[in-house]
Amino acid sequence: MIVTRFAPSPTGFLHLGHAYAAFMASEAAEGAGGRFLLRIEDIDPARSRSDFERAIFADLKWLGLRWPEPVRRQSEHFADYAQALKQLDRMGLLYPCFCTRREIAEEIARAGLAPAAADLSAEGPVYPGTCRALTAEVRAERLARGDAYALRLDVKKAMKSLAPDLTFEEQGRGPNGESGVQVARPELLGDVVLARKELPASYHLAVVVDDALQGVTLVTRGWDLFPATYIQRLLQTLLDLPVPAYAHHRLILDPAGRKFSKRDRAVTLASLREHGATRQTIRAMVGL
Ligand code: GLU
Repeated sequence: MIVTRFAPSPTGFLHLGHAYAAFMASEAAEGAGGRFLLRIEDIDPARSRSDFERAIFADLKWLGLRWPEPVRRQSEHFADYAQALKQLDRMGLLYPCFCTRREIAEEIARAGLAPAAADLSAEGPVYPGTCRALTAEVRAERLARGDAYALRLDVKKAMKSLAPDLTFEEQGRGPNGESGVQVARPELLGDVVLARKELPASYHLAVVVDDALQGVTLVTRGWDLFPATYIQRLLQTLLDLPVPAYAHHRLILDPAGRKFSKRDRAVTLASLREHGATRQTIRAMVGL
């Protein structure tokens, strides 16, 4: 059975781009007699708000979507993510990184590394690996001193322990037209952060664990997250989790060709509804 999910973060009001993504997920499931799930991705307590979460439920109901209750809320499952993290740690694939954003930028400039890969993910530039090279003594000393750190995944080491080709099935289209069987290239994103003190599970870790625990078989989402699939595919194999198929879809852009932002109040579903929009007009606005 096909199981899809729509997984918004309650860090703002939903806009047209979310409506399109939610329709895509629910229709992919319903068209095949499957299940559509809603998941609240609220791992970041500094940005998540319960009023945004309530608005998500109201907006999606207004759009005519239905999902099984209870809805999985990531903030209630940190123990699951901690367990996955421990598993990776036991495999020797994590290392503490003490770098600040600024130090990372300086290191990239100093090493003359191409910033081109910076656009690959929303997480900023590919980490140059500074702390991967720290000696055990320095590491222990800095940890003992209580220096703040993030846990990064040693992608090269992880890849070495695996069969050469990690693949996934793309049923939609990536940003460059990718479809069909894809080879994951996690090295393009580098040693991503999987946890930090104030945020004990990163997006990648939580998504991979949840998709598996919830039995998601088809991940539908915007093609801006296509590169994220590379890292998530790697995590699935490392954690011995089932691999869903993917269907990345186009993004709904504003008239200037930019992604809608959560800060742009005018295009929120709530405000469109107030101004007389209906489910049908929203569908038409996103080209459905
Ligand atoms: N929570 C993510 C977002 O709001 C989506 C995660 C996903 O679909 O993998 O963009």
